[in-house]
Amino acid sequence: MSISHINNMIKGGLTIISRMRPAPKGYAILLYHRLHETGSCPPSSLSVDTVSFSEQMEYLRELGSVIPLSEIVKKVKKGQEPDRLYSAVTFDDGYADVARLGLAIFRRHSIPATIFISTAFIDNNLLIPWWDELQHMAMTMREITFENLKLDLVSDPGRRRFISYMSNKIKYSGLSPEELFAGLRTQAYSRPAGNSFADWRELRSLANSGYVEVGGHTQTHPVLSKGGLDEIGAGKRRLEDELGRRIRFFSYPFGERKDISAEAVESVKRAGFEAAVTSFSGFNRTGDNLLLLRRIKFSGNGGDEFAVNLRTGDIKRQINRTYGFFQGLLGA
Ligand SMILES: [Zn+2]
Repeated sequence: MSISHINNMIKGGLTIISRMRPAPKGYAILLYHRLHETGSCPPSSLSVDTVSFSEQMEYLRELGSVIPLSEIVKKVKKGQEPDRLYSAVTFDDGYADVARLGLAIFRRHSIPATIFISTAFIDNNLLIPWWDELQHMAMTMREITFENLKLDLVSDPGRRRFISYMSNKIKYSGLSPEELFAGLRTQAYSRPAGNSFADWRELRSLANSGYVEVGGHTQTHPVLSKGGLDEIGAGKRRLEDELGRRIRFFSYPFGERKDISAEAVESVKRAGFEAAVTSFSGFNRTGDNLLLLRRIKFSGNGGDEFAVNLRTGDIKRQINRTYGFFQGLLGA
């Protein structure tokens, strides 16, 4: 049985469970990346359209309270059992669409949000993150040849296979994105002109809006279990210099178990962060490690999946733990 079969079984099971469960209680930290206008082409598979995002914010309010991440951290630390669902909204990376489309929605729904920034892409608009370049290749080329493999990029499954195969190569094989792209770029392809990140002016207006807290996400978004630990503090200092405020929270790039090492957690603590968020799935509980908080991830999912995720956060926490264990066994 493959990991994707197990995934589908879990999803089916969760949908049934969520229909039977009453409104959940817990501390949920939601993870988003990008926003796009409803009806326009999504810039990436991680983007949510503005109407869906607004509906999701309304639904969060119906289920409980939406509070700043700093309040969730306080509650988890103080050991208060949650009497309802408390959620905090977070966005990773620092894309301009969050500044341009998100702020109006945060205002309209009175939603406090935390935005975690990888500073190198703000400092240099010509620096393209490798995952965005992969996405661009997948969308603009018809096929690609890599290590004698001819990959078709015409169909959605083909593009997804290409992106996931290459992402794994870059993250875990030791091959740098530059080495990998050098071969691919010679094929019929034109590079994107610049990245899609916000600039410092946009980040300052977010930070001064009263709705947004800015957090650290390193400089260049490395896999911290492989290196780049000095970027944890360096990214924090860069944000503090530009925004003139203390940066209290951190988000681990990629954020899955194999992306985070004990040394990375130690470096986050040493850099002076009060708490840090991962991509481990599920709700948080009182007394949890503040440097390894869980989040529930949202991409372009429909409303149903959003509701299921929120109503099954506690169960997802258990599954995520078991799933991580089996993934370790399978060497996946
Ligand atoms: Zn990120």
